[in-house]
Amino acid sequence: MAVRAVVVWPDDRLRQASVPIVAIDESVRALYQDLVDSMYAENGLGIAALQIGDPRRMFIVEPKLAGREPTDPPVAFINPEVVWTSTEQQDSEEGCLSFPEIYIKVKRPLRARVRAMGLDGEIFEIEGEGLMARCLLHENDHLTGKLLVDFVGPLKRQMIKKKLMKVKDAELDEAG
Ligand SMILES: [Zn+2]
Repeated sequence: MAVRAVVVWPDDRLRQASVPIVAIDESVRALYQDLVDSMYAENGLGIAALQIGDPRRMFIVEPKLAGREPTDPPVAFINPEVVWTSTEQQDSEEGCLSFPEIYIKVKRPLRARVRAMGLDGEIFEIEGEGLMARCLLHENDHLTGKLLVDFVGPLKRQMIKKKLMKVKDAELDEAG
């Protein structure tokens, strides 16, 4: 369908809470396709609808990371819920398409289980470990408006803000 511009922090739209999807209709399938195109254009592992400016409860994850064949389509998570996380934690650097070139160390559960609806309307559960658990929890955070910068202190947040505002200015200059 279309590659849509990724919303970059500190854009306030990233703080909205996403709303549940009531029916899998043509507009939901179109949103899925835009998410796929936008994620692949940016080489992302996952992306939430809010990141392309659509506050509906959906994110997608790249197929290989989700345990599918690399040639399979990305996995859609509609109205997802985190139903279980391990007490065992992992501490690793994390990136986000809404924070280009920023990496932040985030402590998260090592394993996580998510229940969601697929594009076929069926409910499924998926358990991820390591990077997959991290990705599931990260994308799920987007649906409540939670972001990477919520894991750092105010000083570091200010630094990241400056850096991203500079990127934005440079892009505006390029655009004339
Ligand atoms: Zn993100």
